[in-house]
Amino acid sequence: MARMVLPFLVSASDTSSSARRGALQTQHGTIETPAFMCVGTRATVTGLDPEDLRAVGAGILLANTYHLLLQPGPELFRRVGGIHRFMGWTGPVLTDSGGYQIFSLASDRTVREKGATFKSYVDKRTHLLSPERSIEVQTAIGSDIMMVLDVCPDSTADEATIREAMERTNRWALRSLAARTNAQQALFAIVQGGVVSELRRESAAFLTAQPFDGFALGGLAVGDTRAQREEITHSSAALLPANRPRYLMGVGTPPDLLQAIAAGIDLFDCVLPTHLAWQGTAFTSTGRVRLKRSACAAADKPLDDCCACSTCRRFTRAYLHHLFKCGEPLGPRLLSIHNLHHYLALMAEARDAIEAGAYTSFARAKLAAIDRHEHSELSLRSSSPDDPS
Ligand SMILES: [Zn+2]
Repeated sequence: MARMVLPFLVSASDTSSSARRGALQTQHGTIETPAFMCVGTRATVTGLDPEDLRAVGAGILLANTYHLLLQPGPELFRRVGGIHRFMGWTGPVLTDSGGYQIFSLASDRTVREKGATFKSYVDKRTHLLSPERSIEVQTAIGSDIMMVLDVCPDSTADEATIREAMERTNRWALRSLAARTNAQQALFAIVQGGVVSELRRESAAFLTAQPFDGFALGGLAVGDTRAQREEITHSSAALLPANRPRYLMGVGTPPDLLQAIAAGIDLFDCVLPTHLAWQGTAFTSTGRVRLKRSACAAADKPLDDCCACSTCRRFTRAYLHHLFKCGEPLGPRLLSIHNLHHYLALMAEARDAIEAGAYTSFARAKLAAIDRHEHSELSLRSSSPDDPS
């Protein structure tokens, strides 16, 4: 089929880094980039409705093919006319292919060249998720951007295993491309290769020769260190075409985002802001705050003085602490609103800084502030702070 065009316009580029400001036009609206995608795995960002998401500034949501294949299943999406109508979200949606979940979650899993068979956690039935099946399900879901099914090796795997996974991912990418039936849906390829630069180079060379609408970097934030992640992100992003959007999958913390924007990454997703919200941890302008700690019990002040979200405008730390202590669902909901607002506001500030030609100094100041506030905590952590679920 003819190449589908997903218009992507780069309107400003930073002079002292590879950061760029752009706009990606989808069937459901324009995505201002760099953009953070809120994770709505099962066609919901847990506890928030589409109005909440609009209010925090969400432009695009991410849903997951693996989970939606098992429940409610592609037939339902066909019947109701796709995910936008189903969940009442009118903005753009990207669907991940299910590759990562097959390798990290699925039980009784067998992976062959044809695809992956595994047992459903919903009804114990056996499913085959092949590149073609993933595209078929994503077509039924009706996402604006689909992802190819990829092979995600264990982060501790040896180089031969990582090479094998990368080469199979490339073959599956071609099958995904051939399986696409709806020219309105964009399709992104996924560059694999672990933390081995040469494998990343081979993967990028193979995939960028094909007519994909965008390119993602997969297999990071799964056990690699922050330094490895930064190095691979920078070297791999430079291998991707300048006129196509670049997506760094599943990464990460605010410092990860700031570094990756400087590498020329346009799209991000990560479960951290919502997962940590459900655990009672907030991202604030002065570092992370754990609401369950007794220090918050009598704190008669907003969660973050610098935040304009509806949680910070209306409630005190003491009230949020109380909600978490009682196990009230309003606690995680209010904290999810705040954490997503925090991430999305950071991206908006980054876009403004790129436009103003001042991204490098902006990012440096932000990173210094985060390091200053979290230094003692970071130095205590021996492993990556990411929660790659
Ligand atoms: Zn807030």
